[in-house]
Amino acid sequence: MKPRVEIIALGGTIACAPDSGASGVAPSLTGMDLVAAVPQLGTLAQIGARNLSNLPSTEIGLPLLFDLATAIRAHEDEGIAGIVVTQGTDTIEETAFVLHLLHRGSMPVVVTGAMRNPSLPGADGPANLLAAVACAVDPGCRDLGVMVAFDDVIHPAAWVQKRDTSSTGAFWSPAPLGWMAEERPALYAKAPPRTAFDIPQDAALPFVPILKPGLSDPPLLVDACLAAGAAGLVLDLAGGGHVHSSWLDPLTAAAERMPVVFSSRTRGGRVLSRTYGQVGGEIDLLNRGLQGSGDLDALKARLVLILALMTGAPGRFGEVTNLSWQPGDFETIPTRRP
Ligand code: ASP
Repeated sequence: MKPRVEIIALGGTIACAPDSGASGVAPSLTGMDLVAAVPQLGTLAQIGARNLSNLPSTEIGLPLLFDLATAIRAHEDEGIAGIVVTQGTDTIEETAFVLHLLHRGSMPVVVTGAMRNPSLPGADGPANLLAAVACAVDPGCRDLGVMVAFDDVIHPAAWVQKRDTSSTGAFWSPAPLGWMAEERPALYAKAPPRTAFDIPQDAALPFVPILKPGLSDPPLLVDACLAAGAAGLVLDLAGGGHVHSSWLDPLTAAAERMPVVFSSRTRGGRVLSRTYGQVGGEIDLLNRGLQGSGDLDALKARLVLILALMTGAPGRFGEVTNLSWQPGDFETIPTRRP
């Protein structure tokens, strides 16, 4: 008996077809259509497929992801092998991470999509879907949380970023979990530590904007965010976490009222904490009550802060910012004997 995999389709380029009457393509293919285009899936698993939406991925909101997380939990309780989520690529780095933060189980959850729609030569959706299902049924992919399988690379949701508008290799992470080899996942790296949030049913969605100051930008939007009801603020700052001195007073005042987090707009490397003593440097910001985002870029830091606020424990933000392992953690890695 083959393992069961459920494909939950949300839309995106992988499901796009020419839009009758309009220019360009739009999501319209169903999850079943995607499965029908890849007959090899049947050799790996018993496949079920359904749509939870059929949208461009910028239309996916947190409430839809909460519903999806509930559906994933129910499937895990049924005992299926794994879940594949197909969706638009524009927001995968956010959606996969939210699902990761909501998933406590062992079952693999693999997110994928396509950069080239099915009507284009070299459409990548079928290969990505096959890779995702291969990961979903692979016992080695259990207990890794949520992964993104794309262009034959398996990325952990905690790290993955979209870094190109159109390349089929648009996704990047500093430490991929592995690569596909002859239609099977070959895993090379340990997944980052996991943290899960339980979101209370009635929790309201807080407004947590991201501000990205450029050269000579006045800090006017800090007060505007407060006036608009922000419950937290994320700053996407230069270098290791540095800002012009004119921002310091408004940011200090904001940090007295709500969590204010700074990340690095370089989108690579951990935000600094003890290197630069300059005005507006990371040490100055930390002394003024701001928090660093650790290993998280601004988009991911914002999502953690939102979930932490929704649980009523904004302090939990700090539980997720360090994606590295501590020395003792390596003792759990078994040594292979010849
Ligand atoms: N616009 C598409 C989206 O829904 C792009 C894609 O799927 O690659 O994100």
